[in-house]
Amino acid sequence: MSIEAKIAGDIEVRTREELFINIQPIQVAGRLTPEAMKALIAYGDGYSVCDWCRKPFRLDCIKKPPIDKFHKEIAEFLGMDVARAVPGARRGFQAVANTLVEKGDTVVMSSLAHYTEFLAVEAAGGIVKEIPPNEKNIVTGEATAEKIEKVKAETGKLPKLIMIDHFDYSLGNEHDVYGIGKVAKEYDIPFLYNGAYTVGVMPVDGKKIGADFIVGSGHKSFASPAPSGILATTKEWAERVFRKSSMKGDLTGRVFEAKEVEMLGCTLMGANMIAMMASFPAIKERVKHWDEEIKKINYFLEEFLRIEGNKVVSEMPRKHTLTKVDTIESFHKIAKTHKRKGWFLSDELKKRKIVGMFFGATKTWKLNTYGLTWNQIEYLTKAFIEIAEKYNIPHTLAKKVEKERKL
Ligand SMILES: *Cc1c(COP(=O)(O)O)cnc(C)c1O
Repeated sequence: MSIEAKIAGDIEVRTREELFINIQPIQVAGRLTPEAMKALIAYGDGYSVCDWCRKPFRLDCIKKPPIDKFHKEIAEFLGMDVARAVPGARRGFQAVANTLVEKGDTVVMSSLAHYTEFLAVEAAGGIVKEIPPNEKNIVTGEATAEKIEKVKAETGKLPKLIMIDHFDYSLGNEHDVYGIGKVAKEYDIPFLYNGAYTVGVMPVDGKKIGADFIVGSGHKSFASPAPSGILATTKEWAERVFRKSSMKGDLTGRVFEAKEVEMLGCTLMGANMIAMMASFPAIKERVKHWDEEIKKINYFLEEFLRIEGNKVVSEMPRKHTLTKVDTIESFHKIAKTHKRKGWFLSDELKKRKIVGMFFGATKTWKLNTYGLTWNQIEYLTKAFIEIAEKYNIPHTLAKKVEKERKL
């Protein structure tokens, strides 16, 4: 029998963020602010935000708490005209795909696109065509134009939509969203900018990018609980994506003219809505310090690469904190003969209170240093060097220290 306190039954108390340095690729920028935690408790009851719901009886129009104001501000924050809170980035893709894509229509996206983009197009009856990245694993405007031409030649029609991840989930590489925005304009094809890894951590200006839609993920990058997200668009597209219901009941004659079809009336209710709003002031501040986050990941990798055999798979220098590394020629060699196999590295990190790398991985794996302090970065760096020393993997840190002493 366990003597540990439980929330209820077998539900453990989660202490990962309190007790460990977490470098889990998808978790770090979704960590809640203290304000969001307070909001979760205060607005936890089901339909809590409906206390002051008045005509036209729609979530984004509620004035108390100021949900309507948040919607206006978030649109402005992203350089767009209209925004809606949605239950996750995927629901943003879905609303756009449902609106623009009909059966058999083509949507072009990157070959590094997220699976939820595939599924949103599939659910709408569309067909995905992938744009290949160049030799540096970057999707460019030219490659996008080529793919559009190819689709046109094969189907006789232009794609209905272009969906591009600014930073992809796999390598965290930056793709040419500005170039692609221009191509989208030239072909007059709507462009959905996927900001799952950008909205909430770095400045995003939809006008500058030339995006027709901006999608963000609350639980990925906006210090918000799951599910939460943002769909923002221009005045022109808002009329279509946020079109209102025109259905009339045949018996009752009832109509729901204020309700938006793709949003199914109201979207992100209760605690999740208010938590997102509660994190917003901190988000506005933190996007100004993205350059510091980039300095930290580049510093960490510079040290990490001192370990012989370590490589970085993502583009260098890093422009994002999400990074894929390759330790086949270093830690994986140890794993081959270690009695704990690949788990030895996770074990060694956990002993040092570091968690979040894919459990048991020693070949290629991802990490994300977003939100770590400089002290924590320094500690993380030393931990890897220590592990390398323990298993006799050579590194050049000793040389660096020697050099610094001489200076
Ligand atoms: C995480 C992620 C998504 C999905 O976001 P949700 O908010 O969980 O729906 C979509 N695209 C990319 C690139 C992602 O990394």
